[in-house]
Amino acid sequence: MGIATINPATGETLETFQPLTDAEIAAKLEQAQTTFEKYRWLSIAERSHFMQTAADILEKQKAKYAELMTLEMGKPLQSAIAEVEKCALVCRYYAEHAAEFLADVGVKTDASQSFIRYQPLGIILAVMPWNFPFWQVFRFAAPALMAGNVGLLKHASNVPQCALAIQEIIQSAGFPTGVFQALLVGADKVPALIADERIKAATLTGSEPAGASLAAAAGKQIKKTVLELGGSDPFIVLASADIETSAKTATTARMLNNGQSCIAAKRFIAEEAIANQFEKLLIENFQALKVGDPMDLNTNIGPLATPQILQDLDQQVQNCIASGAKVLVGGKPLSRPGNYYPPTILSEIPAGSAAYNEEFFGPVALLFRVPHIDAAIELANSTPFGLGASAWTTDEQQRDRLISELEAGAVFINSLVKSDPRMPFGGIKRSGYGRELGIQGIHEFVNVKTVWVK
Ligand code: NDP
Repeated sequence: MGIATINPATGETLETFQPLTDAEIAAKLEQAQTTFEKYRWLSIAERSHFMQTAADILEKQKAKYAELMTLEMGKPLQSAIAEVEKCALVCRYYAEHAAEFLADVGVKTDASQSFIRYQPLGIILAVMPWNFPFWQVFRFAAPALMAGNVGLLKHASNVPQCALAIQEIIQSAGFPTGVFQALLVGADKVPALIADERIKAATLTGSEPAGASLAAAAGKQIKKTVLELGGSDPFIVLASADIETSAKTATTARMLNNGQSCIAAKRFIAEEAIANQFEKLLIENFQALKVGDPMDLNTNIGPLATPQILQDLDQQVQNCIASGAKVLVGGKPLSRPGNYYPPTILSEIPAGSAAYNEEFFGPVALLFRVPHIDAAIELANSTPFGLGASAWTTDEQQRDRLISELEAGAVFINSLVKSDPRMPFGGIKRSGYGRELGIQGIHEFVNVKTVWVK
């Protein structure tokens, strides 16, 4: 597939884009480097002013940007609007906190003066996915730019207009030309970009193969990477939980973004004592969801982003059924134009089937029953992933065990897993490494300089 806007609700190709030539890429790299050499010395107050203006632009034009996202990748318009608002929030968060996060930190030693200074690295390459086409980019760009770095964006090939819109927002906010540029290129150009000596580090959100490939190329060049990859987040419901609220939240947690979110709950693990009740409520909630045109504000579930995602998801579902799983709801693509898959629940999944180790990137819930908390934790930890985990209980001892023993970058008790500008976000195991957001996010792409004055 080339670089193009293809409406996932209809399959219609709306616009195609020529990838940049090597000469055009070289010119953008040159521009980024020249800009960095000046931009790095601007005060944090100046950078904050631009970042606040970017937030203003996002807020004023949220309807326009939301429609663009929905058009290119099919998320329901309501959640696209919320995504633009969240982008404004992350811009304001770093605009307000960067001075504090980047201030020199004194350390008592036997020197007359010793401290840590945070300095920018230079050009950071961001390889980003289509599922949150604005949020994933802004959560990288806001801290990276506030720290004095400049950014080059290689966005997913199915959201080129989102990439250009973000470049335009940052430019219009007053940031110097070249602080943030979109490169309309295919993934094949990434290794050469990483090898360029002016690019100092890279971040990728996407699939495991893409992350491994980027990290291998960066490793050869001794360059830092942050990887935010897939997940198969558990959603554990224990007997003491509020079952109705947990089932309602479970539905939201699975269906966010038509089910195409790395931190969506994917495996629902219910303690036997309440499993029938939870299952019944989950079925009712899934059946009540409205599937349809993502531009309609009443739609809960729109189409999947591409025909390939639909095909891959259906293949996983059919494999799971063939291995002996039972279909409680849904289970095959809807016969209508566009990449529509219905809300689906699979249960009685045989131990050892492929579903145990795979990420289902769409509106498909895997339901498991366990006799007690030990089995719940064991099952939750039994995947190669370790991104987020949601667990429901009102018992304090159980809560403490879940917080300590779940292998994940984030544990949310009695709530769905979500990202928040104020808290670090990232995974362990095959879900990746490094952290975005919070103070940790802004410290990923800086030189932590040790200063010692005798
Ligand atoms: P990819 O990982 O292929 O795409 C994400 C980004 O990485 C895109 O910009 C893509 O560019 C780029 N990319 C792809 N291959 C490479 C490579 N070898 N080197 C460098 N960059 C690369 O995701 P897909 O869209 O193919 O989705 C496949 C699966 O990935 C999903 O089903 C899901 O499981 C997972 N995924 C997880 C996401 C998350 O939020 N953690 C987000 C998206 C996907 P291009 O578009 O040009 O190929």
